[in-house]
Amino acid sequence: MSDDLYDRYLAAGRRVTDHQQNCPVCRAEQRCEAGDRLWKLFSRLQDAYLKDRKR
Ligand SMILES: [Zn+2]
Repeated sequence: MSDDLYDRYLAAGRRVTDHQQNCPVCRAEQRCEAGDRLWKLFSRLQDAYLKDRKR
């Protein structure tokens, strides 16, 4: 398992949370463009991290 990947996964998760707390659009459970980008990055890293863990 790569610690670097895990760190990036956690950091991306924090950025999503931070954004959601500061963005009225995302707080209303819709996703703005910036929030969508952060979310996609986060889910990519999450997929990679979970795949990495299974090995
Ligand atoms: Zn947003």
